[in-house]
Amino acid sequence: MEKLLLIKYGELTTKKGNRKVFIKMLCKNIEKILYGINYNLEQNLSCMYIKVEEKDLNVCLEKLLQVFGIHSIAICESVNNNIEDIQNKVVEILKNKNFNSFKIETKRSNKKFSLNSLEVSSKVGGFVLKNISCKVDVHNPDILVNVEIRGEATYIYVDVISGIGGYPVGIQGKGLLMLSGGIDSPVAGYLSLKRGVDLECLYFESLPHTSLEAREKVLKLASILNEYSLNIKVHVVPFTNIQETIYKNAPDSYIITIMRRMMYRIADRYSKKIKCKVIINGESIGQVASQTLTSMVVINSVTNKPIIRPVACMDKLEIIDIANKINTYQTSILPYEDCCTIFLPKHPVINPELDKCIEIEKTFNYEELINETINNIQVINLNKVKNDLL
Ligand code: ATP
Ligand code: MG
Repeated sequence: MEKLLLIKYGELTTKKGNRKVFIKMLCKNIEKILYGINYNLEQNLSCMYIKVEEKDLNVCLEKLLQVFGIHSIAICESVNNNIEDIQNKVVEILKNKNFNSFKIETKRSNKKFSLNSLEVSSKVGGFVLKNISCKVDVHNPDILVNVEIRGEATYIYVDVISGIGGYPVGIQGKGLLMLSGGIDSPVAGYLSLKRGVDLECLYFESLPHTSLEAREKVLKLASILNEYSLNIKVHVVPFTNIQETIYKNAPDSYIITIMRRMMYRIADRYSKKIKCKVIINGESIGQVASQTLTSMVVINSVTNKPIIRPVACMDKLEIIDIANKINTYQTSILPYEDCCTIFLPKHPVINPELDKCIEIEKTFNYEELINETINNIQVINLNKVKNDLL
């Protein structure tokens, strides 16, 4: 037996001019995520139909619930195109439900069907009233029964499952996510994916001061994000040399400010190299000394790239809430040190001065160090196996 899933796009339908591009991207993403499953997909400007075998239904649903751009999914019952079969099926469905009022809504794309939509709704509604004790309420029904008469069959559905919404991943091009092992940056990545931005992840590593477990943790977080993209690579920056040089040359209170300016410089140059339009990170206003507005301005001034900070205005508890929902929290709280925490000074400056940063940076040849570091970035493709299959 085949099942039919009816998919509604939601927000992307508001973007009239781009609708076709959006739908094409959504189809491409669905194709990737359903790889290995036998299915048939048909789409039009307002919805999409996916036919799958009943045995694949659950796994298919699970996967579709990770696709941005899907607003809702309805599992439809199918019957032959004749009014008696439709009436019987609707009654069979409604007999298992607890309700007082209902409404039948019919769509008829098959214009050869002998009755029009209103006639179908009224005949089916009448049959329900004869068989089940309930009433019709066209304004505020307890249950809405949708009947869609299509060429090959009629599809009936009542329950609608919410999708994760947003825009199809990739529709906006790529952003470079500065991904630490913390709580905030995976959430920032998720929120960007949700707006259609595909990601490359940049991880700054300071071996041996940070451990390989810390890297594993970042890869795990990236692989959770990858479930929504299937396109993510992690770029590991060997940051030890730069960090040690800063440690030797900068006054304690400025170590973090200078370090973050170097991170931004690397992210800026590398994003051009791998064609990312923006840099994304998990900074949140006021969370730590390097995230006061003054610090952000001084750190940000090394790049002209737009920096997207999806969690900038969220409280930590709000961020944690999302981290729990997307299943990154438990990994994020594993206790491995990040390069930002290893050389943490007792009193980092809260209001750094730009001139002072420039003075400090004159004391070592950071350009050379940055070039060398970028040349040694290691790329880890999370989709190696998947890409080989596709
Ligand atoms: P998170 O903010 O992800 O919880 P964190 O709080 O340890 O981790 P912060 O010190 O708040 O990190 O750094 C702010 C942002 O800078 C992070 O959200 C992340 O985007 C970026 N960042 C910090 N450390 C790293 C790193 N080692 N590699 C890549 N990006 C980093
Ligand atoms: Mg943080």
